[in-house]
Amino acid sequence: MKSATLGEIAQAINGEIIQGDSGIVINRVSTDSRRIEPGSLFFALRGTRYDAHQFLDQAIAAGAGGLVIDRDVEVTAGITVIKVLDTLAALQALAASNRERCGIPLIGVTGSTGKTTTKDMIASVLGTRLHTIKTMGNYNNEIGLPLTLLNMDENSEVAVVEMGMRGPGEIDALCRIAKPNGAVITNIGETHLELLGTVSNIAAAKGEILENIPTDGFAVLNAESSFIQREAKRCRGKVVFFGIEQECEITAKDIIAESGGNRFTAEIAGYEGEFFLPAPGRHNVMNALAAIAVGRELGLSIEEIAEGLKTVTLSDMRLAIIEVGDIKIINDTYNASPVSTGAALQVLKEVSCGKSMVAVLGDMLELGSRAVEGHLEVGSIAADLGVDSLVAVGDLASGIADGALRSGMPAGKIYRCADNREAITVLNVILREGEVVLVKGSRGMHMEQIVESLVNFP
Ligand code: ATP
Ligand code: MG
Repeated sequence: MKSATLGEIAQAINGEIIQGDSGIVINRVSTDSRRIEPGSLFFALRGTRYDAHQFLDQAIAAGAGGLVIDRDVEVTAGITVIKVLDTLAALQALAASNRERCGIPLIGVTGSTGKTTTKDMIASVLGTRLHTIKTMGNYNNEIGLPLTLLNMDENSEVAVVEMGMRGPGEIDALCRIAKPNGAVITNIGETHLELLGTVSNIAAAKGEILENIPTDGFAVLNAESSFIQREAKRCRGKVVFFGIEQECEITAKDIIAESGGNRFTAEIAGYEGEFFLPAPGRHNVMNALAAIAVGRELGLSIEEIAEGLKTVTLSDMRLAIIEVGDIKIINDTYNASPVSTGAALQVLKEVSCGKSMVAVLGDMLELGSRAVEGHLEVGSIAADLGVDSLVAVGDLASGIADGALRSGMPAGKIYRCADNREAITVLNVILREGEVVLVKGSRGMHMEQIVESLVNFP
């Protein structure tokens, strides 16, 4: 963060210095007592399972430059302590103040799937010219977003932040802290139906970001979603739509899937550019179009944008292809919904180039009343794409097996497993050299265990 004294920080977070020296200068914060950098200001947050007020001694021992607390606890003399009403609200207030003091353009990325991927692509594009701050990994909530904003300092020139949500009002709350100048909505799908009920409600909740864009700001929106199109009027700034072979501002054509990624031509307001993206699947071309649009809005050249896309590295467990001997494993175990699983099955087909395809699919959680239908649909997509063997892992995933069976996959090629361990046993029996295996399921299924076991299989 931009340096500030503890006195200035206390003022920004509406706190009171109850002991110590208010003149100490701070330029970073921490919320994890196990990973404190000396000199950082430690915010004692409370989670459902822990209360960081228990770890104040550890924070001091690790060299914290000050503490922010919200309940009465005994603290060793010497360290500066700021008392606030609520430590999380204080962290958010300091983040908002740092964001304002830095005064740089900030792009917020939301959507049902593809936020992290698109955020990484945008940051790679902008990073070719500008000193870019981005959300680390998936830190997209009410704690992760403030921590990202607190990474901005006097050297930062632009920020790209991921904004996640589970219910209405959450994106709005994140926007009040982050004050985005630009918005990206990747797509709308069925993640978080449990809390929101309908896809239209999900679109409305994501659309909250649009009302937070100023008149001189912009929104980059997926033209392929009628739900997003409907939300667009909530934006007072410029709106740029992207889509593949669509009538809109930024489109892609001549997409060639090749080993290691996609080559395509993008049309951008009358210009054409050639791009290579080292990530598979049509959906990643969509994500790249959003990144191209943001690059253009911030004045980058087509060459800079192309360079940024060519050199992007995506986060772990998202469609990473691992080769073990002659077997290719597509590790997409980070998370799953019907939309992202459909996209991953398409990638399986692309990568297999006619070789035998094995889909190892686990439960897709948080689908609410759409759970049964969602799993059946995915099974049917797998069968229609010609997947050769299906290993369904978990209770809900049994519905994927049912869907595949109904759509004509032979029963002898469908394996129902209770858990990852059973799936590993089945795979060790059925996998053959030359096959391509997709592994995917919701985060709670921890299906990376299956990938690890396949990789380490003698
Ligand atoms: P989370 O809500 O967990 O933060 P996210 O929105 O950040 O997820 P990613 O982590 O980028 O999404 O991708 C999650 C999954 O969605 C991956 O399996 C990825 O392959 C798939 N995916 C990425 N982009 C798209 C897209 N545009 N359409 C459909 N699926 C996508
Ligand atoms: Mg994410």
